[in-house]
Amino acid sequence: MTTLGRLSRLTGNWIPAALARPFGAPTAVFFHGVEQQISDPALQVNQHRLDAFEDVARLLKRDFDVLPLSAMADVLSRPAKHARALFLMSDDGYANTLTTAAPVLKAYDLPWALFVSTHHIDTGEFTPPTLTRIFFLEAPRGAHDLPHFDTPVFLGARTQREAEAVEAWKHLKNMPAPHAIRVLEFMKTVLAKTGAGIKAKYESENFLTWDQVRALDRAGVEIGAHADSHWAMHQDQPQDFLREQALRPKLRIEKEIGHCRFFAYPFGQRGDIGRGAWEAVRDAGYQNAFTTIAGTLNASTNPWLLPRYGLAAEESNLAAFLPVLRANNPRLRTWQSQIGT
Ligand SMILES: [Zn+2]
Repeated sequence: MTTLGRLSRLTGNWIPAALARPFGAPTAVFFHGVEQQISDPALQVNQHRLDAFEDVARLLKRDFDVLPLSAMADVLSRPAKHARALFLMSDDGYANTLTTAAPVLKAYDLPWALFVSTHHIDTGEFTPPTLTRIFFLEAPRGAHDLPHFDTPVFLGARTQREAEAVEAWKHLKNMPAPHAIRVLEFMKTVLAKTGAGIKAKYESENFLTWDQVRALDRAGVEIGAHADSHWAMHQDQPQDFLREQALRPKLRIEKEIGHCRFFAYPFGQRGDIGRGAWEAVRDAGYQNAFTTIAGTLNASTNPWLLPRYGLAAEESNLAAFLPVLRANNPRLRTWQSQIGT
């Protein structure tokens, strides 16, 4: 979490919810998946524990007007009229959003949107950060000469592997996608040889099928795009890669669901989105797109670079905390102007 995030969370916890509410502004928040229990926190970084997620749902219902994304245009045009408005979203498309998250959100009658990375729904492949973590945990002990890494990676004890995985991922995420894809292919080949039953062992990271995505659509969940492959759309990516990452998931989701109006950038921080990314998303015909940069929705001057807040593993006082996100609005606007807004 950023320093601002830590500070504002601290401040937020000191403000009683009833006091903070009148100073609110419309916000968007997101989660990834929900599991009954978290058995491996180093790997299941994207999963909420079910009872903590139920607490979040209860707070959202009590303290906010949780709206469907179809209300976004009205909220952006008249934010002052929607001070309690909140949009709830889930990224990636984990299978447990259907089995574990959806029943909770239905019980509280909370509308939500799901952003899927279509390549992963098509193939069932793990996301690149998940595959990287699994490789570093499961690959045989010894040296591995990963493509586009300056030196071989040595894998030994579990704690050392976890630390190496974090460093390797930082390097990998910033590579141009054609290079990074070669690294992932190398990892997949090594893992296939271990015969370790990886899919079953890391079940929480598995994806929905298209049948399941359609079931969520029929249940009223807005299906949006989270790029095609779950890669950063940073400024060093080739332009044709960015265009494909924006356009292919839209066409794929339209074919399965009938419409796809919204986009969420993978990772979604400043370094993960260049000018070419949001222009490709705009040109593909999306109504709005979401980052993971802190801010409130009234602040944005660019409808394809909207702010969003990632829900922490446990949240006790969202009504006090979320209005504090507006402290980051000036930085959001500065960044938007830096990348061409
Ligand atoms: Zn994601």
